[in-house]
Amino acid sequence: MRDIVIVGAGFAGMYAIHRFRSLGLDLVAVEAGTDVGGTWYWNRYPGARCDVPSIEYSFGFSDELEQTWVWPEVFSAQSDILRYANQIAEKFDLRRDIRFETRINAIEYDEGANEWRLASEDGTTFRARWVVMATGCLSVPNKPALPGADNFRGQTLHTGLWPKEPVELGGLRVGIIGTGSSGVQAIPELAQQCAHLTVFQRTPVYTVPANRKAMRPEHLSVFREHYRELRTMQQASEIGVSNFNPRSLTGAPRRTGRLLDLDAEARKRLVEDNGVGALLAFQDVYEDLTANEVANELFREAIHDLVEDPVTAQRLAPKTYGLGCKRQVIDRDFYVTFNRKNVTLVDLGETPLERVTATGITTTEADYPLDVLIYATGFDAMTGALLRAGIRGRGGRSLREKWADGPLNFLGLGMQGFPNLFTVTGPGSPSVLCNMLVAIEQHVNWIGECIDYCRTHEVRTIEPLAESETQWASHVNEVAEGTMFTAPTCNSWYLGANIEGKPRMFMPYVGGYPRYKNRCDSVAAAGYAGFEKS
Ligand code: FAD
Ligand code: NAP
Repeated sequence: MRDIVIVGAGFAGMYAIHRFRSLGLDLVAVEAGTDVGGTWYWNRYPGARCDVPSIEYSFGFSDELEQTWVWPEVFSAQSDILRYANQIAEKFDLRRDIRFETRINAIEYDEGANEWRLASEDGTTFRARWVVMATGCLSVPNKPALPGADNFRGQTLHTGLWPKEPVELGGLRVGIIGTGSSGVQAIPELAQQCAHLTVFQRTPVYTVPANRKAMRPEHLSVFREHYRELRTMQQASEIGVSNFNPRSLTGAPRRTGRLLDLDAEARKRLVEDNGVGALLAFQDVYEDLTANEVANELFREAIHDLVEDPVTAQRLAPKTYGLGCKRQVIDRDFYVTFNRKNVTLVDLGETPLERVTATGITTTEADYPLDVLIYATGFDAMTGALLRAGIRGRGGRSLREKWADGPLNFLGLGMQGFPNLFTVTGPGSPSVLCNMLVAIEQHVNWIGECIDYCRTHEVRTIEPLAESETQWASHVNEVAEGTMFTAPTCNSWYLGANIEGKPRMFMPYVGGYPRYKNRCDSVAAAGYAGFEKS
């Protein structure tokens, strides 16, 4: 029997291998894909890239890595982030402990032996004292069951399962369903590659232009010199982002001031001079419904300025929810792409999809012939991968049963009834509201120290107390209440609203990274207070 099985070899699983090895633990990692990188391995669609500056979206655990890696752009493309993952795998010799093409579908606790037994789809089995679920928050693609979808004779693709081989779209009629972050990134690129692109939009999106700058070598040198300060600033930031400026050598707060303090003229000028992204810098846009609606209206007007056809502009303008409800989307030329002659927008709100046919999509209004159909329809987020892994704890109770009304755990790290099993960036932690690499490092470090504590204190099992879970759940709800994230008009994947039948519950912790980390640290300092140890 091994000490630990790590499930998943994205950034979380990769860092876990490195960290737990340093504790002298005997481990193995299992990964469904053929190589490392997780999100950046699976999401190879045209236009895929980071929405956090790459200097920030990078690991801080190795000086050598920081000092040698070169980010070519300020916000990196998927291919560069995947290269970074590969470089980490090589530098730290991670692959020798990873079993690829191994998807785990049963993880069962044997109470008598105090061990976890894992089995993969192909029948390989593993036994371990500890299990670390590094299975990702956005790793289970959501492919809605559209009527007739199986009849489609063209090629079907999902942005979250994009093939490794190049996809040739020249001369083809392509349809894409979905205008979230993935669709918005893919649409301008696809429009340039294919003969005709039809965008099937159910809900319009608020998207702001991305920073497209190349990394200047002199800035990279400054970052390298000041990485430790930058990392300290990340730790003090609500979202794990320092905003370190290589010119002033200071970080910047994310939001300041109130939009409502500006008069109508000044607000208009602000958007004209700085673009719609400027609206996101005001605190009241996220806290005050009046300010929020003022910002939403300015946003809608800006769409009309960018999109030539007024009917298309009207369709692209969000009306049913406000800024701040969903993860902010960033784009490169999204709105102006609809000025191209080879792009059609179909508003599924006005003319719903009736069925997929052998040759395309039929709505209540028209038939759209297609050679390729792309689903940019998102993920069964945060709980999807954990529930699909077939986890059963004490007494054979499944996680699915425990979470029937929504995820219940302590600190997003572990569940009562599932001893010695940890979740990295689980629901109830800052996770997807944070720079994920900061969140991942913090969780993996905490889990490593907890396991080390158990070994040195002869603790056989550790798991949260039931009351720790209920208290944490009410705290998570309390801090989310009254924010734009949980507004009644908001339907986001944070709430599970994108998956039919999923309980509506705001899943990530919105109280801020520093506050959360302090809580984790004080739990550890008090000998894992709130956990039951045997
Ligand atoms: P993942 O990268 O999802 O890796 C999990 C791995 O576990 C996968 O490789 C999967 O195959 C494997 N796995 C899952 N279940 C099993 C199983 N049962 N058996 C075996 N293997 C399994 N975050 C940011 O902070 N900034 C960004 O800009 C950003 N951009 C993103 C862009 C896209 C397109 C997407 C989808 C997500 C983005 N994210 C971003 C979130 C991103 O998921 C995280 O930043 C990070 O990469 C997550 O790493 P992870 O290792 O936790 O999970
Ligand atoms: P998403 O935000 O959930 O968007 C999915 C889109 O598909 C929505 O427009 C949704 O419409 C539509 N859709 C879903 N089911 C549909 C159906 N049955 N019929 C018609 N339309 C349907 O998913 P995503 O775009 O993949 O992004 C998920 C998350 O991944 C992001 O929020 C972000 O955290 C991360 N991500 C980040 C980046 C980046 O910039 N770094 C890029 C991609 C992804 P409705 O809104 O009506 O449901």
